[in-house]
Amino acid sequence: SFSPSLLRFTSHTARFSFRSIRAMASHIVGYPRMGPKRELKFALESFWDGKSTADDLQKVAADLRSSVWKQMANVGIKFIPSNTFSYYDQVLDTTAMLGAVPSRYNWNGGEIGFDVYFSMARGNASVPAMEMTKWFDTNYHYIVPELGPEIKFSYASHKALGVDTVPVLVGPVSYLLLSKPAKGVEKSFSLLSLISKILPVYKEVVAELKAAGATWIQFDEPTLVMDLDSHQLEAFTNAYSELESSLSGLNVLIETYFADVTPEAYKTLNSLKGVTGYGFDLVRGTKTLELVKGGFPLDKYLFAGLVDGRNIWANDLASSLTTLQTLEGIVGKDKLVVSTSCSLLHTAVDLVNETKLDDEIKSWLAFAAQKIVEVNALAKALSGHKDEAYFSSNAAAQASRKSSPRVTNETVQKAADGLKGSDHRRATNVSARLGAQQKKFGLPMLPTTTIGSFPQTMDLRRVRREYKAKKISEDDYVKSIKEEINKVVKLQEELDIDVLVHGEPERNDMVEYFGEQLSGFAFTLNGWVQSYGSRCVKPPIIYGDISRPKAMTVSWSSMAQSMTKRPMKGMLTGPVTILNWSFVRNDQPRFETCYQIALAIKDEVEDLEKAGITVIQIDEAALREGLPLRKSEQEFYLKWAVHSFRITNCGVQDTTQIHTHMCYSHFNDIIHSIIDMDADVITIENSRSDEKLLSVFREGVMYGAGIGPGVYDIHSPRIPSSEEIAERINKMLAVLESNILWVNPDCGLKTRKYSEVKPALSNMVAAAKLLRTQL
Ligand code: GLN
Ligand code: ZN
Repeated sequence: SFSPSLLRFTSHTARFSFRSIRAMASHIVGYPRMGPKRELKFALESFWDGKSTADDLQKVAADLRSSVWKQMANVGIKFIPSNTFSYYDQVLDTTAMLGAVPSRYNWNGGEIGFDVYFSMARGNASVPAMEMTKWFDTNYHYIVPELGPEIKFSYASHKALGVDTVPVLVGPVSYLLLSKPAKGVEKSFSLLSLISKILPVYKEVVAELKAAGATWIQFDEPTLVMDLDSHQLEAFTNAYSELESSLSGLNVLIETYFADVTPEAYKTLNSLKGVTGYGFDLVRGTKTLELVKGGFPLDKYLFAGLVDGRNIWANDLASSLTTLQTLEGIVGKDKLVVSTSCSLLHTAVDLVNETKLDDEIKSWLAFAAQKIVEVNALAKALSGHKDEAYFSSNAAAQASRKSSPRVTNETVQKAADGLKGSDHRRATNVSARLGAQQKKFGLPMLPTTTIGSFPQTMDLRRVRREYKAKKISEDDYVKSIKEEINKVVKLQEELDIDVLVHGEPERNDMVEYFGEQLSGFAFTLNGWVQSYGSRCVKPPIIYGDISRPKAMTVSWSSMAQSMTKRPMKGMLTGPVTILNWSFVRNDQPRFETCYQIALAIKDEVEDLEKAGITVIQIDEAALREGLPLRKSEQEFYLKWAVHSFRITNCGVQDTTQIHTHMCYSHFNDIIHSIIDMDADVITIENSRSDEKLLSVFREGVMYGAGIGPGVYDIHSPRIPSSEEIAERINKMLAVLESNILWVNPDCGLKTRKYSEVKPALSNMVAAAKLLRTQL
């Protein structure tokens, strides 16, 4: 269980002293928890599998925490965060701290142990997990607190709060704003009304920290970068006035990140009671600098987030130093602290472990371990102790990145420039196209298809691994994949599916597969970033102009098409998804990089068409993920994102059917952009939220394109019956014209077993066939 004495910071090896803040201090908002080699992931998974004990897990965690603290202390960081470690998620930790455990987890007060904690995170045999959702616009996911009017908060769980560090807490207002009303709670219930109930717990925590000797405390209030109304802003004012007396004697940092704060939020912040300093993201928050220039409260500290926590690029130290000098003129030397733009949780851990990247590219990069060195070097430089050698090697790396022929490809630059401001659309409208396609394919009503991938067996993964390691020959590899494709094609024919897929056996990951074949991408060995719990992703790095040396999927798709008379979908990942799931270069706007990817995918689309592939699916699983946090920026993003998608397929014939797929259904607010993608058929996830989709469907009717809302959930091993699927399709038919409805699962089948996929798809086809007879 969570034993406070074990979790508490006990290491005496590191009494980091920042008691006297000398001129120019350095601060880190937060640090990755996984460890440089994903030690925490493996410890967690082994514990969950019953292969190791709670003690083993706690030992790994304690080692990770103290090594991070030591690392920062050695570098010279003054304000070292603590409590940013988590066994799963920092918002869940706050829920545990507040004792806000939903009743279904049968917690009976007292210390919250691993059993209750991990049940909330992951569910257990009898109770499902709490909901998880995206942390702002990152790929990190947090566990959403469920709060109702009856909730009782109590200080339930201590965490690792090192007194010589800066303990970090999710701030009370952001905690509530990131929560959702518990099931069955009336719509009118205001989460913010719970503020008076949670503040007493925060006061207890603060009192304990004070008693333990803490001198600083950091409240993360990232919701301050959102579009907040005056009522929400007032909640901050009131909460911190209420906390003021408890906070007295402590230095309090309010940390914001991921965007600039609005002028209103800035005003609110500056007038908060009991607060000593503010942290701003000066990388994404491009307008915040202007706000600070317009006035900053005397006596307060400014924590300047100049080192990007969302990316892997080395900081341009000379330029950061200039910004710091400007800030120094405003807030004063002794009130300026150099910091990261946000927690380093969102970047990779340590470049040291990248033995496969060449030296040139490596010189352009900084992962978390390198970023803390940058922060410290900037702080020292500003206080007159500039490390000249370090700064000049940084300048040299910046210069080499600017001039490297590996980065710039004039032809690509020109082609992408030519796209701006122009419109790219297919020549005819969707109804005319669908008519032409129907004539050609003669598909039945309610045509059936799948999203692309079929189960990836151990054998299959082994074949790919051995080929990559050059342990098997190309011929053997192609033979194995061909057999796999053949198996998948035969299976789909037996199941009587209408539009087939090749099953994607050659792909490890839908972005990596394309990145590896495009110029301008680099790959890391250990550049993992936590996505949720023990799950990490390893985004490719886009460092240069993107081009496609040769066709990427045509041979596999043609091979698959040659095995069947039915239409075989060519399967591509769309430009926006490739962009949003990569570390993107920061030396040109994101849309420019996206246009370049779009041109590469366009070449692929056209090659597929030439090879006789008549249905092409371009997945945009991550289109929504790139949506900026602030409404004012969303339209611009959607415009270039949708434009990029259209560029990929604007040149195909009417009879070539373009599908797209998206892994979510919450797009009521962006439905016009989805329509503007102008795809012929769109398949989406649906099984979890029928109700919300209805309104989207209604618009779909006007749109005229084919729509395939998933008829069953592929995230669960459960096999849906044909009755159940038929009922679901019937519900859709109540709102949608039968001639535009497609029948397909929610998403790819990659993570499922054949023993689940075969009966599920068989039931799906049976349901479609049954309903066809009733139309
Ligand atoms: N075509 C991909 C697959 O089927 C789509 C995956 C996704 O949408 N995440 O696996
Ligand atoms: Zn999907």
